[in-house]
Amino acid sequence: MNTNEIYQTLGVSPAVLAYGEKVLATLTERFAAIDANAELAQAKVLAAMQKNHVNATHFAATTGYGYDDEGRDTLERVYADTFHTEAALVRPQLVCGTHALAVALSANLLPGDELLAISGKPYDTLEEVIGIRKSPCSLAEYGVSYRQVDLLSDGGFDLSSIRNAVTARTKLVHIQRSKGYQTRPTLSISQIKKSISLVKSINPNLVVMVDNCYGEFVESIEPSDVGADMTVGSLIKNPGGGLAPIGGYIVGTKACIDRCAYRLSAPGLGQEVGANLGLMPALYQGFFLAPTVTASALRGAVFAAAAYEQLGYRVVPSAAEERHDIIQAIELGSEEAMCAFCKGIQQAAPVDSYVTPVPAPMPGYDAPVIMAAGAFVQGSSIELSADGPVRPPYAVYYQGGLTWPHAKLGVLLSLQKMLDAGLVSL
Ligand SMILES: *Cc1c(COP(=O)(O)O)cnc(C)c1O
Repeated sequence: MNTNEIYQTLGVSPAVLAYGEKVLATLTERFAAIDANAELAQAKVLAAMQKNHVNATHFAATTGYGYDDEGRDTLERVYADTFHTEAALVRPQLVCGTHALAVALSANLLPGDELLAISGKPYDTLEEVIGIRKSPCSLAEYGVSYRQVDLLSDGGFDLSSIRNAVTARTKLVHIQRSKGYQTRPTLSISQIKKSISLVKSINPNLVVMVDNCYGEFVESIEPSDVGADMTVGSLIKNPGGGLAPIGGYIVGTKACIDRCAYRLSAPGLGQEVGANLGLMPALYQGFFLAPTVTASALRGAVFAAAAYEQLGYRVVPSAAEERHDIIQAIELGSEEAMCAFCKGIQQAAPVDSYVTPVPAPMPGYDAPVIMAAGAFVQGSSIELSADGPVRPPYAVYYQGGLTWPHAKLGVLLSLQKMLDAGLVSL
């Protein structure tokens, strides 16, 4: 079989394949830069694994209390060395990104303290954690107040408003690196560095926490390299490399991480307990693969941006822009186009390829949401996926792809469905 025939088997017509190849020819330099960064990130991870003498005994399962779990403790040292921090908490008992963020916040905020978000409204699921939306057990219920400084209209930090918002009560500063499900630009590490320097110059004791979801290994350095006291994320996104079946991480100063461990388990117990339940092989190997998996997802995002931008759609970020996370927003302009796009992504999946995604109501959203995902790990968004609320500007958020050829197929099939529906002409 030649390439055209193989792709036809998968549902991609020669015309769409030819269009894809034409777009790809414009991306050689972008892909080279992505690969060069992956090489650097891979070296960082390898160096940390070698320094900590990772060996086969670390892959053994522990049960019960999990005392003296060398596999778990060594994995945490590997994360700490990769992120250049004093300490790390990397656990399957951190059940998702939101949980890791909630632990980091509630461990380091006491009654009377104020939490200050300086990159605008935090990710939707944090609204109830903070108490922006009323919820039992929110930080608000425990007497932690909240303030927020929005980003400027160009997406940058509003440094003068941040300066005015820091008061004697301010204890912890929240920064979200990725845009999440907004169409604002993602923050670069250099922007994050400037904002951290500013708040630390006002009060060096402020604790800075960065929500690093979707950002790991996209740039050569991480928020932990530019002064963040805690850097937090999910293992079913970039750092799990697609293999981690569950988990979250918090890396940072020993003082902050000790408190996080006391909050996660119990005061006095901290990091000493927490059996690994046999998940160590997946967590180590996933972290080892994470730099190249992230690069595959980035190639897919750049390809999607270029393919749709060249057809006249608005994409955030644009194909030429520097990238700070793996999310690609594409404004498709209609419900019909969102459905066609998601149908293509779904059809490309290794799992559930035969189902058709349709918009449905979701708790916490004011519009129906459409989601395409055919993942090995439920809800994993380092695996190829696309979703978005069905309302103007009808943007889909495309992310993930464990391998570049799979991401490529996803984008090609999305184009095929758009073409078949008469929504684009190539
Ligand atoms: C995914 C995500 C979260 C929450 O992670 P979950 O694992 O879904 O709980 C928080 N912040 C950002 C920016 C995210 O992308």
